[in-house]
Amino acid sequence: MSIVRVRFAPSPTGFLHLGGLRTALYDYLFARHNGGSLILRIEDTDQNRKVEGAVENLIAAFSRLGIEFDEGPGLGGNFGPYVQSRRLDIYSKYAHKLMERGFAYRCFCSAETLELMRKEQQGQKQFPKYNRRCLTLTEEEVNQRLEQGLKYVIRLKMPDDRTFEVHDQIRGKVEIDVSQLDDQVLIKSDGYPTYHLAAVVDDHLMRISHVIRGEEWLPSTPKHVYLYECLGWQTPVWVHLPLILNPDKSKLSKRMNDVSVDSYLQKGYLKEALINFVALLGWHGADDRELYSLLELCREFTLERVNKAGAVFDLTKLDWMNGQYIRNLPLEQIAALCKPDFTQAGIDSGDQDKFHKVIELVRKRVTLSKEIVQQSVRYYVDQQISGQDLETLKKESSQRVISWFLNELNALREISGTDLQAIISKGKELLEMSAKEYFAPLNIALSFSRSCPELHGIIDILGLDETRRRLRLAENVITQE
Ligand code: GLU
Repeated sequence: MSIVRVRFAPSPTGFLHLGGLRTALYDYLFARHNGGSLILRIEDTDQNRKVEGAVENLIAAFSRLGIEFDEGPGLGGNFGPYVQSRRLDIYSKYAHKLMERGFAYRCFCSAETLELMRKEQQGQKQFPKYNRRCLTLTEEEVNQRLEQGLKYVIRLKMPDDRTFEVHDQIRGKVEIDVSQLDDQVLIKSDGYPTYHLAAVVDDHLMRISHVIRGEEWLPSTPKHVYLYECLGWQTPVWVHLPLILNPDKSKLSKRMNDVSVDSYLQKGYLKEALINFVALLGWHGADDRELYSLLELCREFTLERVNKAGAVFDLTKLDWMNGQYIRNLPLEQIAALCKPDFTQAGIDSGDQDKFHKVIELVRKRVTLSKEIVQQSVRYYVDQQISGQDLETLKKESSQRVISWFLNELNALREISGTDLQAIISKGKELLEMSAKEYFAPLNIALSFSRSCPELHGIIDILGLDETRRRLRLAENVITQE
């Protein structure tokens, strides 16, 4: 295989979304798997849609995710500039070359003329399409108009007597009807190229070997194939990725797709989970395995295992995956991730031993990393006990459990080396209570809620003194009335 060079070519119109991340990730994995290069190219030729700061945002999002480009704005490379608005003279040169060869022509039709044309065609139940009135202008007529300073666009003269075949790496041979394709504008009246010309020129000059992009670009590909032909260039390998769908198989709703990668991270989704989830949106490994690190993905990723069928975006799967990563990544990594949340919540997590024990206990029960701090506060600060939990604590049987347990702990000198589990089990037998009757008051006393992790884990975190203090507090609940 020739040298692999792929590009991610976003338009800077907003934030990085999961769909964009999927394309970039597949580019990245394909490049890494084949020892190739990944290029970041900014396609900012639509000046109206440009959003200030979008490029910086995009680059920052990728760096947070650990996806690195080899060439691109700010990174250098031999094929720059990598921002299309800085390459206008290049596109103009090739547009003129196409005109010289008779493949393209100037069109002076105004927006009003085009609108009128469209209405007329619609009235006659024809497919709206540029009627080529400027194609037949003589050289003299063109020059006259140029001298008058009339604005113009440059259009590609699409052949109308051909069917186009696109050889797509994922879909195989795809035949596309081009009879309804307009004479594509290549250069707009503001001198900027359209996406079609700019992408083809850049993909060629930047020596892109594989164009990997969303399926929505497949219908445009004949135009690109034709442009390559007119310019006498060899086409890259086309790779169109499957659409991303809602669970009901409809096209992914804006509501889901408009969520930026950053906001997923802010909500408490881990970058490892997001990458893993997105990697499986249209690709699968050799077996049913679902959890892959970025490194493993680089090793395993091949285009042969990219699916043709649309990929279902299942948020419950992302939640499941995130939980898996929270539980299974090294404790230090999760602790470091949560540290700022603790500081922000005003919790002093300076006791490293306690902090790590808390994270270890709590991470087993959460979906999002942000939930860790919420569920950890109770091991640092007393919480209000109310409602049913308070009623339970006041019951005579509950008070018996608390007193018995406190008594047992009062007899201890230290907690380390103590078989807490044995004491807990002994109490349950001695007091002859149901599990519910026995554990609910202890849970409430020690964690301020009946729903909590295992008791011995909590006691281990709190230490002997704090455990006793909380039990005494629970005893006082009655006398406090
Ligand atoms: N600028 C296009 C987009 O943002 C890129 C399409 C392509 O990769 O060719 O969708």
